[in-house]
Amino acid sequence: MGAGLRSRGIQECISRRSPPRRRRSYGYSLQHDPVGHRVTRGWSYGEAVTDPRTGEIIKGQVTWAVCAPPDYKIAEALLAPYLDGKPIPPEMEQMVLARTRQLAAHEVGHTLGLMHNFAASSIGFGASVMDYPHPWITLDASASPHSTKLPSGNRAWDKAVIRYGYSEFAPEADEAKSLDALLRKNEADGLRYITDEDARPIGGAHPYAHLWDNGPDAPAELERILAVRKAALARFGANTIRPGEPMVQLEETLVPLYLLHRYQTEAAAKLIGGLDYRYAIRGTARQPLPCSLRTSSAGR
Ligand SMILES: [Zn+2]
Repeated sequence: MGAGLRSRGIQECISRRSPPRRRRSYGYSLQHDPVGHRVTRGWSYGEAVTDPRTGEIIKGQVTWAVCAPPDYKIAEALLAPYLDGKPIPPEMEQMVLARTRQLAAHEVGHTLGLMHNFAASSIGFGASVMDYPHPWITLDASASPHSTKLPSGNRAWDKAVIRYGYSEFAPEADEAKSLDALLRKNEADGLRYITDEDARPIGGAHPYAHLWDNGPDAPAELERILAVRKAALARFGANTIRPGEPMVQLEETLVPLYLLHRYQTEAAAKLIGGLDYRYAIRGTARQPLPCSLRTSSAGR
Protein backbone atom coordinates (compact mmCIF):
# COMPACT_ATOMS: atom_id res chain seq x y z
CA MET A 1 0.00 0.00 0.00
CA GLY A 2 2.77 2.40 0.98
CA ALA A 3 4.65 1.52 -2.22
CA GLY A 4 1.54 2.28 -4.27
CA LEU A 5 1.16 5.70 -2.67
CA ARG A 6 4.87 6.50 -3.00
CA SER A 7 4.67 5.65 -6.71
CA ARG A 8 2.00 8.40 -6.94
CA GLY A 9 4.44 10.88 -5.40
CA ILE A 10 2.77 10.79 -2.00
CA GLN A 11 5.66 10.42 0.44
CA GLU A 12 5.73 9.61 4.11
CA CYS A 13 1.97 9.29 4.23
CA ILE A 14 1.94 6.36 6.62
CA SER A 15 4.14 6.11 9.69
CA ARG A 16 4.24 3.79 12.65
CA ARG A 17 4.91 5.32 16.03
CA SER A 18 4.63 4.38 19.66
CA PRO A 19 1.42 5.70 21.15
CA PRO A 20 1.40 8.57 23.66
CA ARG A 21 1.72 7.31 27.23
CA ARG A 22 -1.84 8.40 28.07
CA ARG A 23 -3.21 6.23 25.23
CA ARG A 24 -1.50 2.97 26.01
CA SER A 25 -4.62 1.04 24.97
CA TYR A 26 -3.71 1.79 21.34
CA GLY A 27 -1.10 -0.36 19.64
CA TYR A 28 0.11 2.40 17.35
CA SER A 29 -1.11 5.43 15.49
CA LEU A 30 -1.33 6.19 11.80
CA GLN A 31 -0.88 9.94 11.55
CA HIS A 32 -4.30 11.16 12.67
CA ASP A 33 -5.84 7.76 12.18
CA PRO A 34 -5.70 5.79 15.42
CA VAL A 35 -5.81 2.03 15.46
CA GLY A 36 -7.87 0.78 18.39
CA HIS A 37 -7.70 -2.80 19.63
CA ARG A 38 -11.04 -4.43 20.39
CA VAL A 39 -11.06 -6.63 23.46
CA THR A 40 -13.82 -8.92 22.20
CA ARG A 41 -13.54 -11.48 19.47
CA GLY A 42 -14.80 -10.51 16.03
CA TRP A 43 -13.99 -8.71 12.82
CA SER A 44 -11.41 -6.02 12.35
CA TYR A 45 -12.71 -2.90 10.67
CA GLY A 46 -11.08 -0.13 8.69
CA GLU A 47 -13.31 2.79 7.84
CA ALA A 48 -12.93 6.10 6.10
CA VAL A 49 -14.88 9.14 7.25
CA THR A 50 -15.70 11.24 4.21
CA ASP A 51 -16.85 14.80 3.66
CA PRO A 52 -20.41 14.33 2.30
CA ARG A 53 -20.04 17.41 0.13
CA THR A 54 -16.93 16.34 -1.75
CA GLY A 55 -16.37 12.67 -0.96
CA GLU A 56 -12.91 13.54 0.33
CA ILE A 57 -11.57 11.22 3.00
CA ILE A 58 -10.93 13.32 6.09
CA LYS A 59 -10.29 10.63 8.68
CA GLY A 60 -9.61 6.93 8.96
CA GLN A 61 -10.34 4.61 11.86
CA VAL A 62 -9.27 1.02 12.35
CA THR A 63 -10.74 -1.30 14.96
CA TRP A 64 -8.32 -4.16 15.33
CA ALA A 65 -9.25 -7.67 16.43
CA VAL A 66 -6.56 -10.07 17.54
CA CYS A 67 -6.20 -12.73 14.85
CA ALA A 68 -3.26 -14.59 16.40
CA PRO A 69 -5.08 -17.32 18.41
CA PRO A 70 -6.94 -18.97 15.47
CA ASP A 71 -3.86 -18.67 13.25
CA TYR A 72 -1.74 -20.26 15.95
CA LYS A 73 -4.21 -23.17 16.14
CA ILE A 74 -3.91 -23.75 12.38
CA ALA A 75 -0.12 -23.66 12.67
CA GLU A 76 -0.19 -26.15 15.55
CA ALA A 77 -2.36 -28.52 13.51
CA LEU A 78 -0.16 -28.28 10.44
CA LEU A 79 3.27 -28.32 12.01
CA ALA A 80 2.64 -30.65 15.00
CA PRO A 81 5.43 -28.69 16.70
CA TYR A 82 5.46 -30.00 20.27
CA LEU A 83 8.08 -32.72 19.96
CA ASP A 84 9.81 -33.86 23.13
CA GLY A 85 13.02 -31.94 23.69
CA LYS A 86 12.76 -29.86 20.52
CA PRO A 87 12.22 -26.08 20.37
CA ILE A 88 9.02 -24.74 18.81
CA PRO A 89 9.82 -24.06 15.13
CA PRO A 90 10.06 -20.38 14.11
CA GLU A 91 7.38 -20.90 11.44
CA MET A 92 4.76 -20.66 14.20
CA GLU A 93 5.59 -17.05 14.95
CA GLN A 94 6.29 -16.23 11.30
CA MET A 95 2.81 -17.32 10.30
CA VAL A 96 1.13 -15.15 12.91
CA LEU A 97 3.31 -12.13 12.07
CA ALA A 98 2.65 -12.58 8.35
CA ARG A 99 -1.09 -12.60 9.01
CA THR A 100 -0.75 -9.52 11.23
CA ARG A 101 1.14 -7.63 8.50
CA GLN A 102 -1.48 -8.63 5.93
CA LEU A 103 -4.33 -7.51 8.20
CA ALA A 104 -2.65 -4.18 8.98
CA ALA A 105 -2.19 -3.41 5.28
CA HIS A 106 -5.77 -4.54 4.58
CA GLU A 107 -7.38 -2.29 7.18
CA VAL A 108 -5.24 0.70 6.21
CA GLY A 109 -6.43 0.03 2.65
CA HIS A 110 -10.02 0.48 3.84
CA THR A 111 -9.16 3.81 5.48
CA LEU A 112 -7.81 4.93 2.10
CA GLY A 113 -11.16 4.09 0.50
CA LEU A 114 -10.38 0.65 -0.93
CA MET A 115 -13.05 -2.06 -1.09
CA HIS A 116 -12.50 -5.80 -0.95
CA ASN A 117 -11.47 -7.41 -4.23
CA PHE A 118 -12.27 -11.09 -3.89
CA ALA A 119 -11.27 -11.72 -7.51
CA ALA A 120 -7.71 -10.52 -6.86
CA SER A 121 -6.39 -14.02 -6.22
CA SER A 122 -7.42 -14.93 -9.78
CA ILE A 123 -5.04 -12.22 -11.06
CA GLY A 124 -2.07 -13.88 -9.36
CA PHE A 125 -0.63 -14.76 -5.98
CA GLY A 126 -0.54 -11.70 -3.72
CA ALA A 127 -2.15 -9.34 -6.25
CA SER A 128 -3.96 -7.46 -3.48
CA VAL A 129 -4.01 -7.07 0.28
CA MET A 130 -7.74 -6.35 -0.13
CA ASP A 131 -8.51 -10.02 -0.81
CA TYR A 132 -8.70 -12.67 1.94
CA PRO A 133 -5.73 -15.03 1.46
CA HIS A 134 -5.63 -18.53 2.87
CA PRO A 135 -2.50 -19.43 4.89
CA TRP A 136 0.18 -20.56 2.48
CA ILE A 137 1.48 -24.00 3.40
CA THR A 138 3.94 -26.09 1.42
CA LEU A 139 5.48 -29.53 1.81
CA ASP A 140 9.20 -29.96 2.43
CA ALA A 141 11.44 -32.62 0.88
CA SER A 142 10.13 -35.23 3.31
CA ALA A 143 6.51 -34.37 2.35
CA SER A 144 5.83 -32.72 5.70
CA PRO A 145 3.95 -29.40 5.92
CA HIS A 146 6.55 -26.81 6.91
CA SER A 147 5.93 -23.32 5.60
CA THR A 148 3.02 -21.20 6.70
CA LYS A 149 3.80 -17.78 5.26
CA LEU A 150 1.30 -15.85 3.17
CA PRO A 151 1.99 -15.55 -0.55
CA SER A 152 3.74 -12.33 -1.41
CA GLY A 153 3.17 -10.77 -4.79
CA ASN A 154 3.43 -7.68 -6.91
CA ARG A 155 0.23 -6.12 -5.48
CA ALA A 156 -0.85 -5.30 -9.04
CA TRP A 157 -4.44 -4.56 -8.05
CA ASP A 158 -3.52 -2.33 -5.09
CA LYS A 159 -1.18 -0.23 -7.23
CA ALA A 160 -3.88 0.14 -9.90
CA VAL A 161 -6.50 1.26 -7.36
CA ILE A 162 -4.19 3.80 -5.72
CA ARG A 163 -3.23 5.06 -9.18
CA TYR A 164 -6.92 5.61 -9.97
CA GLY A 165 -7.87 7.20 -6.66
CA TYR A 166 -4.78 9.26 -5.87
CA SER A 167 -3.26 10.36 -9.19
CA GLU A 168 -3.01 14.09 -9.70
CA PHE A 169 -3.25 15.19 -13.31
CA ALA A 170 -1.89 18.33 -14.91
CA PRO A 171 -4.35 21.27 -14.84
CA GLU A 172 -4.77 21.14 -18.60
CA ALA A 173 -5.48 17.40 -18.60
CA ASP A 174 -8.98 16.02 -19.03
CA GLU A 175 -9.36 14.14 -15.74
CA ALA A 176 -12.32 12.02 -16.86
CA LYS A 177 -10.44 10.84 -19.94
CA SER A 178 -7.29 10.20 -17.95
CA LEU A 179 -9.21 8.09 -15.44
CA ASP A 180 -10.94 6.20 -18.24
CA ALA A 181 -7.51 5.46 -19.73
CA LEU A 182 -6.47 3.95 -16.40
CA LEU A 183 -9.55 1.70 -16.47
CA ARG A 184 -8.67 0.60 -20.01
CA LYS A 185 -5.14 -0.20 -18.86
CA ASN A 186 -6.53 -2.28 -15.96
CA GLU A 187 -8.66 -4.13 -18.49
CA ALA A 188 -5.67 -4.76 -20.77
CA ASP A 189 -3.63 -5.95 -17.78
CA GLY A 190 -6.31 -8.51 -16.87
CA LEU A 191 -7.17 -6.93 -13.51
CA ARG A 192 -10.54 -8.18 -12.28
CA TYR A 193 -12.61 -6.60 -9.53
CA ILE A 194 -15.50 -8.34 -7.76
CA THR A 195 -16.50 -7.35 -4.24
CA ASP A 196 -18.60 -8.54 -1.29
CA GLU A 197 -22.09 -8.57 -2.78
CA ASP A 198 -21.07 -11.01 -5.51
CA ALA A 199 -18.50 -13.08 -3.62
CA ARG A 200 -19.95 -13.66 -0.14
CA PRO A 201 -23.44 -15.12 -0.88
CA ILE A 202 -23.61 -18.90 -0.90
CA GLY A 203 -25.32 -18.61 -4.28
CA GLY A 204 -22.62 -16.37 -5.76
CA ALA A 205 -21.79 -17.73 -9.21
CA HIS A 206 -18.79 -15.65 -10.25
CA PRO A 207 -16.05 -18.15 -11.15
CA TYR A 208 -13.19 -15.90 -9.97
CA ALA A 209 -14.57 -14.27 -6.80
CA HIS A 210 -13.87 -16.28 -3.65
CA LEU A 211 -12.89 -15.70 -0.03
CA TRP A 212 -9.91 -17.42 1.60
CA ASP A 213 -8.59 -18.99 -1.60
CA ASN A 214 -5.18 -18.69 -3.22
CA GLY A 215 -3.86 -18.51 -6.75
CA PRO A 216 -5.19 -18.04 -10.27
CA ASP A 217 -5.84 -21.76 -10.92
CA ALA A 218 -8.42 -22.91 -8.37
CA PRO A 219 -8.42 -26.65 -9.25
CA ALA A 220 -4.61 -26.80 -9.20
CA GLU A 221 -4.48 -25.09 -5.81
CA LEU A 222 -7.21 -27.44 -4.52
CA GLU A 223 -5.12 -30.44 -5.50
CA ARG A 224 -2.08 -28.89 -3.82
CA ILE A 225 -3.87 -28.06 -0.57
CA LEU A 226 -5.43 -31.55 -0.48
CA ALA A 227 -1.91 -33.03 -0.60
CA VAL A 228 -0.85 -30.79 2.30
CA ARG A 229 -3.97 -31.77 4.26
CA LYS A 230 -3.33 -35.46 3.65
CA ALA A 231 0.27 -35.17 4.90
CA ALA A 232 -0.75 -33.18 7.99
CA LEU A 233 -3.57 -35.61 8.85
CA ALA A 234 -1.16 -38.53 8.50
CA ARG A 235 1.01 -37.18 11.32
CA PHE A 236 -1.78 -35.58 13.35
CA GLY A 237 -1.66 -36.51 17.02
CA ALA A 238 -0.57 -35.44 20.49
CA ASN A 239 2.28 -33.28 19.12
CA THR A 240 -0.30 -30.67 18.03
CA ILE A 241 -1.02 -29.69 21.66
CA ARG A 242 1.36 -28.51 24.36
CA PRO A 243 2.53 -30.93 27.05
CA GLY A 244 0.19 -30.61 30.02
CA GLU A 245 -2.87 -29.62 27.98
CA PRO A 246 -6.02 -31.80 28.17
CA MET A 247 -6.16 -34.29 25.32
CA VAL A 248 -9.63 -33.01 24.43
CA GLN A 249 -7.84 -29.92 23.04
CA LEU A 250 -7.01 -32.08 20.04
CA GLU A 251 -10.50 -31.24 18.78
CA GLU A 252 -9.51 -27.62 18.39
CA THR A 253 -6.49 -28.38 16.25
CA LEU A 254 -8.16 -31.15 14.24
CA VAL A 255 -11.14 -29.12 13.03
CA PRO A 256 -9.22 -26.41 11.09
CA LEU A 257 -6.98 -29.11 9.61
CA TYR A 258 -9.85 -31.41 8.62
CA LEU A 259 -11.57 -28.48 6.90
CA LEU A 260 -8.36 -27.03 5.45
CA HIS A 261 -9.58 -27.38 1.86
CA ARG A 262 -13.13 -26.10 2.30
CA TYR A 263 -12.68 -22.61 0.79
CA GLN A 264 -10.51 -23.80 -2.08
CA THR A 265 -13.17 -26.45 -2.84
CA GLU A 266 -15.74 -23.67 -3.09
CA ALA A 267 -13.47 -21.78 -5.49
CA ALA A 268 -12.94 -24.79 -7.73
CA ALA A 269 -16.63 -25.74 -7.65
CA LYS A 270 -17.71 -22.32 -8.91
CA LEU A 271 -15.81 -22.92 -12.14
CA ILE A 272 -18.47 -25.49 -13.01
CA GLY A 273 -21.32 -23.51 -14.49
CA GLY A 274 -19.92 -20.27 -13.08
CA LEU A 275 -21.02 -17.00 -14.65
CA ASP A 276 -18.25 -14.60 -15.63
CA TYR A 277 -19.23 -10.93 -15.49
CA ARG A 278 -17.80 -7.60 -14.42
CA TYR A 279 -18.96 -4.25 -13.15
CA ALA A 280 -19.64 -1.67 -15.85
CA ILE A 281 -20.08 2.08 -15.89
CA ARG A 282 -22.08 3.74 -18.65
CA GLY A 283 -19.95 5.92 -20.85
CA THR A 284 -16.59 4.44 -19.80
CA ALA A 285 -14.32 1.61 -20.78
CA ARG A 286 -16.07 -0.60 -18.25
CA GLN A 287 -18.69 -2.18 -20.48
CA PRO A 288 -20.56 -5.43 -19.78
CA LEU A 289 -18.97 -8.70 -20.83
CA PRO A 290 -20.92 -11.05 -23.04
CA CYS A 291 -22.36 -13.87 -20.94
CA SER A 292 -20.10 -16.87 -20.78
CA LEU A 293 -20.39 -20.14 -18.95
CA ARG A 294 -17.34 -21.99 -17.70
CA THR A 295 -17.52 -25.73 -17.50
CA SER A 296 -14.13 -26.59 -16.07
CA SER A 297 -10.50 -25.57 -15.99
CA ALA A 298 -7.93 -27.55 -17.94
CA GLY A 299 -10.24 -30.51 -18.17
CA ARG A 300 -10.21 -31.17 -14.44
ZN1 LIG B 1 -11.81 -5.80 4.93
